[in-house]
Amino acid sequence: MGDKTDIKSLTPKQLEEFFVGMGEPAFRARQVFSWLHKGVCSFDDMTNLPIGLREKLKNNCEIICPIIKKKLVSEVDDTLKYLYGFSDGENVESVLMSYHHGNTICISTQAGCRMNCAFCASSLKGLSRNLTPSEMLSQVLTAQIDSGRRISNVVLMGIGEPLDNYDNVLTFLKILSAPGGINIGQRHISLSTCGVVDRIYDLMEEKLQLTLSVSLHAPNDEIRSRIMPINKKWKVDELLKACRDYTAATKRRISFEYALIAGVNDTPECARQLSAKLRGMLCHVNLIPANEVKERGVKRSSSAAVKRFYDILSGCGITVTIRRTLGSDINASCGQLRFQHGTEQGGN
Ligand code: SAH
Repeated sequence: MGDKTDIKSLTPKQLEEFFVGMGEPAFRARQVFSWLHKGVCSFDDMTNLPIGLREKLKNNCEIICPIIKKKLVSEVDDTLKYLYGFSDGENVESVLMSYHHGNTICISTQAGCRMNCAFCASSLKGLSRNLTPSEMLSQVLTAQIDSGRRISNVVLMGIGEPLDNYDNVLTFLKILSAPGGINIGQRHISLSTCGVVDRIYDLMEEKLQLTLSVSLHAPNDEIRSRIMPINKKWKVDELLKACRDYTAATKRRISFEYALIAGVNDTPECARQLSAKLRGMLCHVNLIPANEVKERGVKRSSSAAVKRFYDILSGCGITVTIRRTLGSDINASCGQLRFQHGTEQGGN
């Protein structure tokens, strides 16, 4: 990234300190913050700054803006999928979905992933690198400008494990919800984790109002350890304890993701075990008929198995929904496009 300051990765407070440190008044920081969040990629476009300041900023700072390498438009719904390229050749994906309550973007937090879940396309080539706050923010800003759709919700559910890139993700969240910029309220942000328990406790301390999603995908250690290596480090009961503690500390309902994979985790017995584990918790279960990833040999559960699973959970008083599939014609689930493309250098 060179020696220049990555100006879009600075929080409003850091930006102000940066300007004051250059001998500039603090209000200039607020002007620049506002321009950056309008998606401006050149200091020359910041027309209310004196020319001399623009030159100074050009010499000392860089504005990270990805290029759109590919854009897919779903013909069945309005879902858009972007493949973004960064200057070092890395690619990541974002998906923009339209719901009646607004436009939600699903963004990536890492180029690749090292969690290696058995059903997931994102870690097929391992982790290349963490994304910077600016690279996460740019996914939101670029999609908003390109699509002309105002983005109201952001979910950290694309490629990567957000809690494996903790500091950058936290900085990004601060920038995303700061007044004076794109200003997306924490209640409109979801963070999804495969269950990095120590970081769930760290996040708890931040007392954020975002929604924590936990990718559970199995009701017991036998199945979960088989499909999610993270479970070898933190067992189901440890993870669920962290979730209960998180809810007690933040008063926020946890959302559990459960991808139904044929013959793996979709039996009535699994549904009964899951109901027993979650009884009494302030939570919501999101059932996702698994996306079939050829390289992983994943088979989606039949709609009868999905319905049966749903009925058992809701019969036990668990709040449960079946996720609507969006963008099914454009491979809208993340990881697949990046995998097909590799990097500019030909992948790793
Ligand atoms: N690392 C984070 C966020 C990225 S994955 C996490 O694990 O939560 C976003 C969601 O997609 C996770 O719930 C993940 O388990 C799920 N997912 C991955 N591959 C899938 C597949 N083939 N079918 C359905 N869901 C899948």
